[in-house]
Amino acid sequence: MSVAKDKLFIDGAWIDSQEKKTIEIKSPIDGAKLGSAQIATSEDVNKAVEAASSAADKWGRTHFVERAEIMHKAADIFEKRFEELVNLLIMEQGKPKADAQIESQGCVNYFRDAAEDIKRLQTDMLPSIDPKKRVYTIRQPYGVFGVITPWNFPFDIPCFIIAPVLASGNTLVFKPAEQTPLCGAKIVECLEKAGFPKGVVNLVQGPGEITGEAMSANGEINAIAFTGSIETGRRIAERAGKTIKHLLLELGGNGPVIVLDDADLELATEAIALSCYMNAGQVCNAGERILVTKQMNDRLTKSLLQKTAQIKLGDPRLPETTMGPLIDETVASKIDSHIKDAVEKGAKLTVGGKRATGFPTKLYFEPTILNDVSPDMLISREETFGPVCPLIECENIEEAAQIANQTDYGLMSSVFTKDLAKGIKLAELIKTGTVAINTPSNYWEGRLPWGGMRKSGLGRQGGIQSIISMTQLKTIILDLG
Ligand code: NDP
Repeated sequence: MSVAKDKLFIDGAWIDSQEKKTIEIKSPIDGAKLGSAQIATSEDVNKAVEAASSAADKWGRTHFVERAEIMHKAADIFEKRFEELVNLLIMEQGKPKADAQIESQGCVNYFRDAAEDIKRLQTDMLPSIDPKKRVYTIRQPYGVFGVITPWNFPFDIPCFIIAPVLASGNTLVFKPAEQTPLCGAKIVECLEKAGFPKGVVNLVQGPGEITGEAMSANGEINAIAFTGSIETGRRIAERAGKTIKHLLLELGGNGPVIVLDDADLELATEAIALSCYMNAGQVCNAGERILVTKQMNDRLTKSLLQKTAQIKLGDPRLPETTMGPLIDETVASKIDSHIKDAVEKGAKLTVGGKRATGFPTKLYFEPTILNDVSPDMLISREETFGPVCPLIECENIEEAAQIANQTDYGLMSSVFTKDLAKGIKLAELIKTGTVAINTPSNYWEGRLPWGGMRKSGLGRQGGIQSIISMTQLKTIILDLG
């Protein structure tokens, strides 16, 4: 397998970091060494930002049709190297092949979409109180955009953000997660071949506390698009506030899935299994809390048990595998502690609840169903990020809405009912950025507006919304004389 470059990409060249310290990357599948990445210090970050800053004016003024052509070239390269992307994603993040194929296709799609979206950006002609004045608006890039991303979708999330950042005329300093730097470097290798001018695309690698903090503190970065946990989002916002950066934050979720008495049982079961177990539950819009009415609880539990028994946990390289390992021990221990806390507080472990044996690492976690979960347990209050389906019984639609909103998170939710009026009522009551009715809570279309309410984020991205969020409005006033 061809592994990605281990250096930093700054001002159009792959260069060593100042200190040449590296992070070693091991596959979650079997612990085998996959490669390494050089850690960027704040001096390296400054160099990348200088390069991005020098390239910003010219790239920002490059006609959007010309930018769109380079974006399409990038999409062509992702398409050509598709198998390489899929194999690296399986090895570095541990996704089963079918899921890795869907994610890798995202790289192609986001670049094509952004290339076309930028051509459709509209601006306004505004009425003025002065009859001699004509007023119109234009949208312009921010300049240097910092992009900091997590490990759970190491191709999808960066490309979802980077494509519109570049199409909008911003230049880029990109830091992938330290668990998946090779996927990050692979994206940049493809962008290098697409022919972006020197300095437009820059890659720095390294841990959040070193490289990420250097980015949020850097006064020459004009905007940051961050995806990750609420805690990190808060730290970035604190630092970025000092230099008044524009911020887009896509943060954690604690997705409620509400199943009412009249829900289609088969549809709800399929959707819940998908939203709790896809990517071993390591998904921001996973089903984190299943709120089920008393009358439906037993039937749903039985049906979920059957569905859970069909999950094939194993080596993600094998075609029969539907769930792979977790990314690392930190994630696995958090799941252990949430399950322990729930059981101590009275939850019933119906199936799973522990690491699976017989695998080369301890990162294979049994798909788990917990019953009798209550809103005070850690598993209800915090994001678990694992293959766990916790069922909370509720009396009626009002109680379901009240429990759904009993959290700081507000990313995505879903509702299962055959009564459209009840579905719409709940959709309007639940405080999440997206509500899916009779659809899995992790339904994803990259072109739809996406973002969190409350502490799950700031701003909206997706399709043309990304282009709007990644450009700033300028008002031009003309006097006819
Ligand atoms: P983290 O917040 O731990 O890390 C995300 C990124 O931030 C990584 O690149 C990390 O670097 C970096 N980082 C960490 N500390 C700092 C810091 N002090 N300053 C700047 N950057 C920093 O999240 P995870 O990687 O664990 O990802 C999982 C989280 O992401 C979950 O909460 C999940 O819900 C959320 N998420 C949200 C999505 C959304 O669309 N709303 C989509 C996907 C995930 P490093 O890892 O190298 O230390």
